[in-house]
Amino acid sequence: MQTHQYEALIVGGGVAGLMAALYASRGAKTAVISKLYPSRSHTGAAQGGIGAALGNLEEDRPEWHAFDTVKGGDYLSDQNAALVLAEEAIDAVIELEHLGLPFDRTEDGRISQRRFGGHTSGFGGQPVRRACHAADRTGHMILQTLYQQCIKNEVKFFDEFHVIDMIRNGDTVVGVIAVNIDSGELHVFHSKAVLFATGGWGRVWEITSNAHALTGDGNAITYRRGVPMQDMEFFQFHPTGIYKMGILITEGVRGEGGVLLNDRGERFMERYAPSIKDLASRDVVSRAIYLEMKGKRGIKGQRYVHLDITPETVNRYLAEAGDDRRITREYVESKLPDILDFCRTYLGVDPVKEPMPVQPTAHYGMGGIPTDLDGRAVIDAQGTPLPGLYAAGECACVSVHGANRLGTNSLTDLIVFGRRSGKHMAEFCQGAEFTPLPDNPTGEIEAELERLRQANGSRKPYELRNEMQQVMMEDVGVFRTAEGMQQAVDTMRKLKEEYQTNLSIDDRGQRFNSDLYEAWELGCLLDIAEVTAVSALARKESRGAHSREDFPKRNDETWMVHTLAYQTEDGSVALNHEKPVDMSLAEKDEKFVPKERVY
Ligand SMILES: Cc1cc2nc3c(=O)[nH]c(=O)nc-3n(C[C@H](O)[C@H](O)[C@H](O)COP(=O)(O)OP(=O)(O)OC[C@H]3O[C@@H](n4cnc5c(N)ncnc54)[C@H](O)[C@@H]3O)c2cc1C
Repeated sequence: MQTHQYEALIVGGGVAGLMAALYASRGAKTAVISKLYPSRSHTGAAQGGIGAALGNLEEDRPEWHAFDTVKGGDYLSDQNAALVLAEEAIDAVIELEHLGLPFDRTEDGRISQRRFGGHTSGFGGQPVRRACHAADRTGHMILQTLYQQCIKNEVKFFDEFHVIDMIRNGDTVVGVIAVNIDSGELHVFHSKAVLFATGGWGRVWEITSNAHALTGDGNAITYRRGVPMQDMEFFQFHPTGIYKMGILITEGVRGEGGVLLNDRGERFMERYAPSIKDLASRDVVSRAIYLEMKGKRGIKGQRYVHLDITPETVNRYLAEAGDDRRITREYVESKLPDILDFCRTYLGVDPVKEPMPVQPTAHYGMGGIPTDLDGRAVIDAQGTPLPGLYAAGECACVSVHGANRLGTNSLTDLIVFGRRSGKHMAEFCQGAEFTPLPDNPTGEIEAELERLRQANGSRKPYELRNEMQQVMMEDVGVFRTAEGMQQAVDTMRKLKEEYQTNLSIDDRGQRFNSDLYEAWELGCLLDIAEVTAVSALARKESRGAHSREDFPKRNDETWMVHTLAYQTEDGSVALNHEKPVDMSLAEKDEKFVPKERVY
């Protein structure tokens, strides 16, 4: 076994991890540990854009961006965090530009911006152009830019190292344990501060836009070591995944004028969101698609609708709306090249000539490891930090997205809060000594890995995973009921039991044992699925992405609180509903006081 010592350790090489690493490395000896090569992180799949009120094409203001974020979050967003996000986004995006990011440009050379769902001007008025983009490859460009900067700054990278445990010495986090995927060897990383930036957990659901690696490892690891998971009942379904495959079709398609149509050719969003129609927030649009399908208005009665970006259709609607913009095939080709490519390759559909078949797809976790505005993990309703632990990006919950995230706000979250976390870590490391490692830090996890390696029961990991994904899709998806969620809770408990007692894997070797790591990841997914179902069942209201048929209304009197889920000694879930939502903007400005959401 090898032991390494770094002042600041970053787990995850996506944009949250790299932004934090860049800033931490300016004041502390820093390493990034990543199970994937950093440039293969899911951020590289982010398509549509990064939100910042630059106002390059029309008037825009950070207060409007903060307002949209809070309203989009169905008033569960912490308002102080939403304001930080909106205000610091502007200079963070300009920083990316200066670091070399090749954004699309306006004719006069400024960063080009387009419309996205829920982003408006004048506190909920008309759609505003706020999403800065590099064609439909925005995440890829940010990831490449920051990776180069980290290399330049001599951040040390441990690529294809899979982190499987966090080390605590009493109340201090002192490092992590990782396996080198190549050799199968365990490595202990001793640190002053650890930041988890391990991304999302969409693989809990059957139809998802998320990459295979998105199994919520950081959330499960910290949960098992006493850190709560916050607001896990809020998981976003993006309205437009490719039918049956889940591959994402960016909201940028609708931002460029694309419309959703049902089997009768109706632009049904006119009925659900008369003011901003197809650009309503994602929870609203996903529910509308489900209701169309339920009403037998899915295409040919099937479980999908059409997304149409053909110039004929788009121009007709633009003309009807009195908008004198017109789009051409060449314009669509230049603004959405990857999307056209996906559809032509995977579907045999050419989006400049015919509509795309789409259905809602599991996309983004609003919840996660609770943190303060500097990325420090906090472990109770009072916001007490756990010394030495930080989190940023999708695995963290600041909470800025509340009950529903707006498109483009994740990339903004990564760079704004990644940067704040990295800065804070550098300062913290300068003032702190290394706390010693506890005795035998690897004992427990070594035993668990060995158990999995030798498992010879009768159920394969993929069988348990498929069952989990189907049940979560059916019962803890876009619409929920008490009965369905209870069934999901029971199934997750049964699957966890089988995972402990009846699992079987084929590869018992040391090198590149993907069978073993997949089995270990399944354990993370099951913990997360259980917490999600338990948290959802307890919240007796509908808010943002959590929509209950038995409690269809939002209930601010009882439920304007965050959920904290803890693992108990016997491995079950204990909930706490005492953490208040920050309402600091509402205290000063009536516009931020919770209201019914109308789009
Ligand atoms: C298809 C798609 C399109 C999207 N488009 C947009 C968009 O246009 N705008 C927007 O704002 N948001 C978008 N999102 C959301 C956004 O991209 C993600 O929320 C964001 O990229 C997450 O970044 P991250 O840095 O937190 O994690 P990721 O980029 O997912 O990176 C996670 C990192 O953690 C590492 N890791 C995980 N587990 C372990 C472990 N156990 N040990 C070691 N390393 C580990 C991985 O190797 C990886 O490097 C999109 C998401 C998807 C899926």
